[in-house]
Amino acid sequence: MNKSGKSSVKGRHKTDISYSVSRIGEFGLIERILGKFSIGNRRSVLVGPGDDAAVIAAGKGRPLVLTTDMLVEGTHFRLEWSCPEALGFKAVTANLSDIAAMGGAPVGIVVSLGVPASVPIKVIDMLYLGISNALSRSGGELLGGDTVRSERITVCVAAVGNLAGDRPLLRSGARKGDKVCVTGSLGCAEMGLVLLKRYFPRQRGSRRSAILSWARRGIGDFQSRIPREIRRDGYACILKHLMPAPRMREAQLLARQGVRTPSSMMDVSDGLSSDLSQLARASSVGIEVFEDRIPIHPSAVRTAGHLGISAARAAISSGEEYELLLTVPPSRLKNLSRTMKQAGATPLAVIGEVTGAKGITYLIHPDGRRSRLTHAGFKHF
Ligand code: ADP
Ligand code: MG
Repeated sequence: MNKSGKSSVKGRHKTDISYSVSRIGEFGLIERILGKFSIGNRRSVLVGPGDDAAVIAAGKGRPLVLTTDMLVEGTHFRLEWSCPEALGFKAVTANLSDIAAMGGAPVGIVVSLGVPASVPIKVIDMLYLGISNALSRSGGELLGGDTVRSERITVCVAAVGNLAGDRPLLRSGARKGDKVCVTGSLGCAEMGLVLLKRYFPRQRGSRRSAILSWARRGIGDFQSRIPREIRRDGYACILKHLMPAPRMREAQLLARQGVRTPSSMMDVSDGLSSDLSQLARASSVGIEVFEDRIPIHPSAVRTAGHLGISAARAAISSGEEYELLLTVPPSRLKNLSRTMKQAGATPLAVIGEVTGAKGITYLIHPDGRRSRLTHAGFKHF
């Protein structure tokens, strides 16, 4: 959305029926939708659309954090590359990670499910086992949902939480001079997908047989076809791709720190390159990130080496990592790292710095070359 709150979609095609969503893409479409609404009029809406989740004042209690994310067969997952338990787990993670990214603690979720009538009941049992395991791990209860028949399997979750600290952690608070940090390490989610594409080819046969093999599959079945030399690392990558977990503990710890610590935060769901660029735009700052400081998971490094692809490139473009991307004033960094260490939380890696070049994000390669990063990320349309 532009500053005036109006859609920036222009031109004679605006109402032309041949003008499809693929012309403006996911971000253009969201901008267009939001441009039609007047936003920010209610005092109870503390954070509206545009961040990882909305934040609403809830009477005298802690503000509520609200988000939704859906997983659609054919877009977010394929039957031959997933299993029902992992799908349930990941649908919860996608949502709770956005609650975490705002500095929230989950209260619960509602789950809207679309499935073909021919789906075995075992699928639903396993899907909800994944949902239940994800809730046990990260917190929150099942609050309700909706169940409908649909051609494609669809899991749409909405999650609600409370702010864990006194304020939401926004994408828009980064300032020039802040350090750019990321939790944990990156790359496994992307390498997991590469392995699935390479070693788990599309199955021929009817839709019915595809659904039946999906129903029979468990997460452990993904080990078998990975070449023995990289089986452990490869399976770790596939696990990260299929059953990622949100950084809930780290997020809540971060949310309870002092003023501007962190100064901004979001989760890595579209890929570091896209998410850095979104954070820079939201904060009207620039960002410079050093390629050789980006933490890459050892399993991703070894798997990429085996397959002869660049681990660094995989780490930068890897979506659905659900790590936290944050900025911290340099004077607060040492204390914050110590606090995280004492709490036994996943350490922060400092990968770059916030600059004054508004909205422009650069990746600095080891040889000093710079590449511009954009928010293109994964293209839905
Ligand atoms: P995330 O990757 O953190 O889940 P998204 O990129 O999906 O965030 O969405 C960015 C922002 O746009 C969010 O604040 C979200 O609520 C909002 N948004 C996305 N789709 C729509 C929509 N169809 N209508 C209104 N707001 C939307
Ligand atoms: Mg997010």
